[in-house]
Amino acid sequence: MTETAEVPAAIGDGGGTPHVRVAVIGTGFGGIGAAVRLKGVGIHDFVLLERADAIGGTWRDNTYPGCACDVPSHLYSFSFAPNPRWPRSFSAQPDIRRYLEDVVDRFGVRPHVRFHTEVLDATWVESERHWHLRTTTGELTATVLISAAGPLSDPQVPAVPGLAGFSGEVWHSSRWNHDYDLTGKRVAVIGTGASAIQFVPRIQPRVGELTVFQRTAPWILPRADRPITRTERAVFSRSALAQKAARAGVYLVREAEVPGFILTPAILRAAEVAGKAHIRRAIADPALRAAVTPNFRLGCKRVLLSNDWYPALTQPNVSLVNAGLTAVQGDTVVGSDGTRRDVDAIIFGTGFHVTDMPIAQRITGRGGVRLADRWADGMEALRGTTVHGYPNFFLLIGPNSGLSHSSMVFIIESQLNYVIDALVTMDRHQLGTVEARHDAQQRWNALLDRRMKRTIWVNGGCHSWYQDANGRVTTQWPSSTWRFRLVTRKFDVGEYRLTATPALAVAARRE
Ligand code: NAP
Repeated sequence: MTETAEVPAAIGDGGGTPHVRVAVIGTGFGGIGAAVRLKGVGIHDFVLLERADAIGGTWRDNTYPGCACDVPSHLYSFSFAPNPRWPRSFSAQPDIRRYLEDVVDRFGVRPHVRFHTEVLDATWVESERHWHLRTTTGELTATVLISAAGPLSDPQVPAVPGLAGFSGEVWHSSRWNHDYDLTGKRVAVIGTGASAIQFVPRIQPRVGELTVFQRTAPWILPRADRPITRTERAVFSRSALAQKAARAGVYLVREAEVPGFILTPAILRAAEVAGKAHIRRAIADPALRAAVTPNFRLGCKRVLLSNDWYPALTQPNVSLVNAGLTAVQGDTVVGSDGTRRDVDAIIFGTGFHVTDMPIAQRITGRGGVRLADRWADGMEALRGTTVHGYPNFFLLIGPNSGLSHSSMVFIIESQLNYVIDALVTMDRHQLGTVEARHDAQQRWNALLDRRMKRTIWVNGGCHSWYQDANGRVTTQWPSSTWRFRLVTRKFDVGEYRLTATPALAVAARRE
C-alpha cells in the first residue's frame, strides 16, 4: 500500500462518521513525535487534529521578539531526528519551528494533519468502546485518543478590572501583534517570567517609555549562548557519534542539577551566589538591585537565563514597578503599590493555563465525567500519561511529568515509549480497551506526594505555576529524567483494567 493510501480520509468527507484507530490532538513536539512513533510500529491509521493552519505548537505560536529555548538544541530535539545544522547552542524560535517543519516532511507526517480542526469535545462511548470527537471540521470516532495539546498552549491573561475599557493595544506574549509599531510608544509589560525577560530587552530600544510590572523577582543566571561554528557543524554532519556525544554532554550537565531540586536545596546555594553576582555586575543602583533580588530559594520557580534583562532595566526609558497590575482605569495602568502610568499598549507576559489545562474541559470519560471535573481538586494521572475513568486515553506532558532544568522532548519521547508499548500490547493481547486502575493511580500519586515533600518546589518559599490552587505540585516530576524514562519504559497490564476487542468479546459471549 502506498503511503498516501494509508492516510485516513479527511473528516467530513461524507459516507458516515469516519473512524480512525488513533486521533492525536495537537502538532507540537508531542503530536509530531507521536505520529513518527506510530508510523514506526506500522500504525498508519491515525490523524493529527490541529486547530491552527500550521504545525509547531508553542514554537509556532510564540513569535515574540527574542523568543528562544533555554535548553541547548542538541538536547532539545528528537533523538530520532538529530539536526547537525543548529546555528546556536540555544536555538531561536524560527530555527526550532523550521526543525519541526523539516521533521514533519522527512517522516511523512503532513498528510495525517487535519488543519483548522479544533477539537470541541471528545466523549468516550462505552457501548462502542471508542471516542467520539466533535471538531470544527466535522465528527469522527477513534479507538485511541492521544492529547498532545501541551501545557503551554492557552495563554493566561489575569482578570484585571477595567481592562476591557482600555482604548490602546493589548496582547499576550504568545499572540504577538507584529502589525503594531511600538516605536516611541508608552508600553506596560506585565510579568517577569521566561517570556518577558526575553522580549523586554528587544523592544526596549524602540519604545518611548517602558513600565515593567514585576510581582515576583525571578532568579536569573548568565546565558552561555554562542554560535555553533562551521567546523563543529561539519563534524556533526559527518559523525552521528559526535552529535550523540554533544547531546549526552548537555544531558549530563543538566541532570546534575536534579539533586538540588529534589533532595538537598543547599547544593543550589552556589547558583544563588552566581545569580546575585549577575545582578551586581549589571546594576549599580542599590534600590533597583534590591528590587530584582529574589526573596525565595533558587529553583523554587523556573531558573531563567539572560545576559540582557538586567542591563535593559537600567536604561533611562525603563521603569520597574515592584508590584503586580491590579487595575486599568481608562488608559492608566495601576499597580498594587498605587503606581499609575498612562500607556498606549499593554503586553501580558503572564504565562499559560498549566494546572487548569483547558483541554480537560473538552474530554468526557466513562460515566459522562468531564476530565476537568475529575480534576477539580487537582490533576492526577498514572505515570503522567493515563487517567482512571478515561479508557484508551493518553496524555503527553500530563500531570507530574514536567521539568524545567532539562528537555521536555526527552520526557515526551519517554511517554511515547509507554504509549506505543500500550498500543502494541493491545494488539498482542487483542485488547479493546485499557484503563488505568484506580488503585494503581492512587499508589502512583502517593509515591509522588512522598517524593514531592522534600523538593525545592514545595520548600523554596515561593508560589509558582508548578502548584495548583490547593498548593499541590501537579506539574513537576520529582526525580531524575532517567528515572522517568525507566518508569515509562514498559506498559504494565497489571496496572490496567482490560477488555477484549469487541469481536473477541462477542465470540466469548456466544461460547
Ligand atoms: P511565567 O513563567 O508563568 O511567568 C508569568 C509572569 O507573569 C510571572 O512573572 C508572574 O508573576 C507574572 N504575573 C502574572 N499575573 C500578574 C499580574 N497581575 N501582575 C504582574 N505580574 C503578573 O510565563 P512565561 O514567561 O510565559 O513562561 C511560561 C513557561 O514557558 C516557562 O516557565 C517555560 O516553561 C516556557 N518558556 C520557556 C522559555 C525559554 O526556554 N527560554 C521562554 C519562554 C517561555 P509571579 O511570578 O508573581 O506569579
